[in-house]
Amino acid sequence: MKDLIVIGAGPGGYDVAMVAKKKGLDVLLINGDKLGGTCLNYGCIPTKTYHKNASLIKDLKEAEIYGLKNLSYSFNYLEVKNRKEKVVNTLKDGINFLLNKLEIEVVNGYATFKNDNTIVVNGVEYQAKNFIIATGSKDRQLSTFPDALNSDDMLDLDILPEKLVIIGGGVIGIEYASIYNQFGIDIEVVEFMDRIVPTIDSDLSKRLLSYLKRQKIKFHLSSKALYKDDEFVYIEEKGKIVKIPYDKVLVSIGRVANYQGLSLENCHVEYDKRGIITDDNFQTSNPNIYAVGDVTGKNMLAHYAKYSSLRALNHILKEKDNINFDLVPSCIFSFPEIASVGISEDYYKDNDLPYEVYKTVYQSNGKAFSANETDGFVKIVAYEGIITGAAIIGYDASTLIHEMAIVITKKMSVLEFKDVIHAHPTLSELFNEGL
Ligand SMILES: Cc1cc2nc3c(=O)[nH]c(=O)nc-3n(C[C@H](O)[C@H](O)[C@H](O)COP(=O)(O)OP(=O)(O)OC[C@H]3O[C@@H](n4cnc5c(N)ncnc54)[C@H](O)[C@@H]3O)c2cc1C
Repeated sequence: MKDLIVIGAGPGGYDVAMVAKKKGLDVLLINGDKLGGTCLNYGCIPTKTYHKNASLIKDLKEAEIYGLKNLSYSFNYLEVKNRKEKVVNTLKDGINFLLNKLEIEVVNGYATFKNDNTIVVNGVEYQAKNFIIATGSKDRQLSTFPDALNSDDMLDLDILPEKLVIIGGGVIGIEYASIYNQFGIDIEVVEFMDRIVPTIDSDLSKRLLSYLKRQKIKFHLSSKALYKDDEFVYIEEKGKIVKIPYDKVLVSIGRVANYQGLSLENCHVEYDKRGIITDDNFQTSNPNIYAVGDVTGKNMLAHYAKYSSLRALNHILKEKDNINFDLVPSCIFSFPEIASVGISEDYYKDNDLPYEVYKTVYQSNGKAFSANETDGFVKIVAYEGIITGAAIIGYDASTLIHEMAIVITKKMSVLEFKDVIHAHPTLSELFNEGL
């Protein structure tokens, strides 16, 4: 009998298997699809590799500003795709190398539970004292668009369409719109809600919309995608039926937890529509079985998957940790980027609570000017003088946000933070310029 079987080798699975092995546990890792899971193969890494290409194209469009006249270049999409595959494979080789080095046994196949201590993979039974389920999530389907592309298909196209209709203006839809727009595709986004990325602070959502419109991405807000025929996508927009011509349709209306194939009824693990139900230690209704990452439906981000699996392992080992799941930074890799952490201004407003907000625009920052990246702002939110949240829309927001994650973790007051010297000229100065 193994000490621990980890089911799924995405960010919620492979890392914890390695940490457990280093701590002396006898570990087995089971994985159905490709090593690295959604994040490495169909999510974070391929999209951010394409984001780099898109960013370069965006800069080249502005080359004359930097004195680079009459530049000419041709865009070879297949080479872009090859680079993406190289990046993914290099990182996958790295994970493989580490798993081999630690002599972690990996079984390829899909696990189902036979009972509380036993799983079956490819007809073979494996037993363990503890299990960590990290089986991730899958695309939510739209039944009226059965043959539309999903986010995985889109990354693997060999030929780019001229016109793409994206159904869903959430994080994935907006990242794809931003990237493929720079690749030269004409993009129209259909969003059911009255704003894009409804999960982020409304202030940022509005500003992002105006920047994306300026980049010539078209939007249909408060609109319902109905169906398509060979030529048009039909939507209901403000009570009227509107026809949008298309070459390809991408459906990105969110993701759902992936636990259906595990036979959870055989091991007394409870779940609901959202995902596998866990407590704060990611322990399920069966005390020897933990569920982490996307399959819990709590927060579908790679770093959440990783840290939730570490919390689960710490609980198995009866070790304490300081991981704070109220402080999970989240980033959107649009142009410009968005990032936030902690409590949002919307939360204080909606709950009619007093708060202070400090806003600084990129246009007031020397480094932003030198980099020709003056769009956006930084917002710090405080409650009774203590910094509790931060949100950024602007260049390199995904890097900048981590300073605020530390500040909020350490419960720094506005006055304490104001006196922390920030080097000049840096984008980090944006944080205390406004205090
Ligand atoms: C397009 C896109 C872009 C994204 N970009 C970002 C980003 O920039 N930043 C970010 O933080 N997050 C991003 N995400 C989300 C991120 O990919 C997920 O949050 C993360 O991969 C979840 O990790 P996980 O370990 O829970 O599951 P996954 O990474 O989904 O891994 C689950 C693994 O379990 C395996 N599996 C499933 N069922 C079984 C079974 N029965 N037996 C054995 N194995 C099984 C699967 O084959 C898979 O390998 C993105 C997602 C998408 C789709």
